[in-house]
Amino acid sequence: MNPNEHSFKIYIANPRGFCAGVQRAVEVVEKAVALFPPPIYVKHEVVHNTHVVQSLTNKGVRFIEDIQEVPEGAVLIFSAHGVSQAVQESAKNRNLTIYDATCPLVTKVHMEVKRYSGKGMEIILIGHANHPEVIGTLGQASAHTKMYLVQNKQDALDLQVTNPDHLAYVTQTTLSLDETKEILTILKQRFPKLHAPNKEDICYATQNRQDAVKKLIKLCNSSGLILVIGSRSSSNSNRLTELAKSQGVTSYLIEDANSFNPTWLTNVNHVGVTAGASAPEYLVEELIAMLKKLGGKEASFTQGFNETVSFSLPKGLQN
Ligand code: SF4
Repeated sequence: MNPNEHSFKIYIANPRGFCAGVQRAVEVVEKAVALFPPPIYVKHEVVHNTHVVQSLTNKGVRFIEDIQEVPEGAVLIFSAHGVSQAVQESAKNRNLTIYDATCPLVTKVHMEVKRYSGKGMEIILIGHANHPEVIGTLGQASAHTKMYLVQNKQDALDLQVTNPDHLAYVTQTTLSLDETKEILTILKQRFPKLHAPNKEDICYATQNRQDAVKKLIKLCNSSGLILVIGSRSSSNSNRLTELAKSQGVTSYLIEDANSFNPTWLTNVNHVGVTAGASAPEYLVEELIAMLKKLGGKEASFTQGFNETVSFSLPKGLQN
């Protein structure tokens, strides 16, 4: 059967796409571009999206990993994922104009680590090794604090700590809610005195986008497909596709409409569309337009949580 010849229904998740932290980080860089001569330097991709990064690169932004690459006197921005204390200190010691685009919800986790570290506690960080947010969070504790990275249930089962009576945990902000719950169940059984953060570290945007995908799963669980727009490096986007797959729904993480393969529509009657927290809305619109050309009918929006969170810009960039 030619996949172009049959019709299917499109469902669009709500909420989806940009969260308040990503919105703020992109605005920080755009304001800096407007105020200062190029190049503007950003440590790491400001948010994990190829289109956003390319568009800012075209405006004169240079994305670097090592701040020693930034020349004296230049403008340096820290990405939404945050940086370690060591990177902050090293940047401060140079003649740079620094703006911090770290999401305030990541900063909240940094503050927790500093507080626990200051109390002499050991700290478990649940997260994915080598993700810049995890590197930044691990780098908040003082040198004498023991921090343990737990990436999955097996790590939680195997973990050995020195002082189980004086132990706290924090998490990466963009994890799977369900998997984190399972990891925490194991950790709490093994370490009954484990201290929890006052408010969950997995952020509102991650939670809302996963809840929205759960609604898409219900709509697409028979002869359906869920498309997640986002980059491979985007943690929260990966969690959305994994969630759909874990419930038996075929799902693809795609960069944009051009990465869509029309043969995926074979025998498909329901297509769910969502976007990770760092994917711009125009990419969703382009994908919907293409799906309609391939037989998609009446895009309908799932009912979801109405997000009203917004974060103010750093001093010096507010006007
Ligand atoms: Fe902040 Fe969450 Fe967005 Fe990350 S996904 S930038 S923690 S709001």
